[in-house]
Amino acid sequence: MKNEPISNAQPTQPFVAGMMMQQPLLISSLLVHAERHHADQEVVSRRVEGDIHRYTYKDLATRARRMANALAGFGVQSGQRVATLAWNGYRHMELYYAASGSGAVLHTLNPRLHPDQVVYIADHAEDQVLFFDMTFLPLVEAIASRVKTIKTFVAMTDRVHMPAQTKIPNLLCYEELVEASSDRFDWPTFDENTASSLCYTSGTTGNPKGVLYSHRSTLLHTFAIALPDALNCSARDTILPVVPMFHVNAWGLPYAACMMGSKLVFPGSGLDGKSLFELFETERVTMSAGVPTVWQGLLAYVEANDLKFSTMRRTVIGGSACPPAMMRAFQERYDVQVIHAWGMTEMSPVGTAAILKGKHLDLPAEARMAVQSTQGRAVYGVDMKIVGENGEALPWDGKVSGELLVRGPWIIQNYFKNEGGDPLVVDEQGHGWFPTGDVATIDADGYMHITDRSKDVIKSGGEWIGSIDLENIAMAHPKVAMAACIAALHAKWDERPLLIVVKKPGQDLTREEMLSFFEGRIAKWWTPDDVVFVDAIPLGATGKMLKNRLREQYGNHLLAKA
Ligand code: ADP
Repeated sequence: MKNEPISNAQPTQPFVAGMMMQQPLLISSLLVHAERHHADQEVVSRRVEGDIHRYTYKDLATRARRMANALAGFGVQSGQRVATLAWNGYRHMELYYAASGSGAVLHTLNPRLHPDQVVYIADHAEDQVLFFDMTFLPLVEAIASRVKTIKTFVAMTDRVHMPAQTKIPNLLCYEELVEASSDRFDWPTFDENTASSLCYTSGTTGNPKGVLYSHRSTLLHTFAIALPDALNCSARDTILPVVPMFHVNAWGLPYAACMMGSKLVFPGSGLDGKSLFELFETERVTMSAGVPTVWQGLLAYVEANDLKFSTMRRTVIGGSACPPAMMRAFQERYDVQVIHAWGMTEMSPVGTAAILKGKHLDLPAEARMAVQSTQGRAVYGVDMKIVGENGEALPWDGKVSGELLVRGPWIIQNYFKNEGGDPLVVDEQGHGWFPTGDVATIDADGYMHITDRSKDVIKSGGEWIGSIDLENIAMAHPKVAMAACIAALHAKWDERPLLIVVKKPGQDLTREEMLSFFEGRIAKWWTPDDVVFVDAIPLGATGKMLKNRLREQYGNHLLAKA
């Protein structure tokens, strides 16, 4: 699949150019804008050392220029990869701008992956430099002699907190580099299609693949997500991104905050309910974003201690389906609006957001909830469609489901180093579409609803059962902490739903009580065949339930019982 023509004009017709300035969309321009227009806005971080650090966008811009000089000093060339193993914090933010802004590629490694995978990814990306938070010192010590291309290791801390002894050769200190480097650096101008950052998919099947974003794709994505009907970021907001900066650039919030001038609060490694709640309150956070599993911890803490949020107004929940019970808890009990959003690493990541239209505002609460529980409408820039088995486009009637395909300027064309071959599906007009692997319906108003990932779908007697719907029902049970529904092999129906449940602490819940909860809430034949109670459900590196692991473990459960 080649790049498509950008104009449909006939070659015989004269070309009349618009007469506006040609200015490339570059990530450094966000920082320049922030320094000029909201220099005094705060960036607050809980450091891994435990204390709270605060400074301004002006300080951020100054130190990012110093780091850009430090990178040049390491001999990092344009297009080379600069890796990080770091939590959400101000030093990580400085590297976001220093690396991409100077023409290098910021490569955010996911520290939750197995060390073997980290080595594989760092080698595949041919990372030159690795910056890491002190939390990850043991991990870096374990991989330092194994990675092939990393020449320079930098601990993101000050002299006082540097390790007295380490196996890492010539370990450098971040703060010493900042001090030793000049704060004069002219951000270079280059083609907006230049690569800016790299993030690998978690690779639940096969090796992880790299998604290489460009300055242009990042800037267009930033414009789009900041809009009121997307993530809705403004200069009046204090944003605390819980979603890690090592996973799809924290959904783009470090860029959007600079663009809009929002106060930023970085939680560091403190992602438990208590630490997050304290930061929400002390820093007067108005907006946050993260995956459902994180919010579970926060809600449990708030509920157990009978607390209320005093400034939080809304939170973006995505990465996996937000259970309606969670949405209700946030909205009805705590007056925090939930923006349910959907996206993928391959989509920078935001594709849709479930924001109401004007015509929904007067609907009864339940009907509004039904709209908000979908994955939402495409943000401008994302084109989507659902297709049947032969690639035929399916109607937007909110009922028929098919595979979801997407296209747009911040959606992947090819994986890094063309790994895995051309991923796109080409339609009759010659347009390439990215197959998301999600199964969805779309209604007449454009609200998309994911029923499953194609690999998680349960096929019972040839009919599909949506595992997400079943999980959402189970999660609404007051005694359930977490629930996963998987396809278990069945002698007669090929597959049947099996529910895996983690009970809330101290709760007594029986199989019968759990299954009777489905009565009247779902077609009878969708009711799971059995329930397995477990202590914990395995989570992947991005906080999602590892259903393939559960399938390996419990896939034969029904056959064994029969
Ligand atoms: P990975 O899980 O491979 O790291 P991503 O983080 O890019 O990849 O995950 C993308 C997938 O996550 C989507 O294709 C979809 O299956 C799932 N997902 C993301 N947001 C939602 C949501 N709001 N509801 C349901 N599924 C979601």
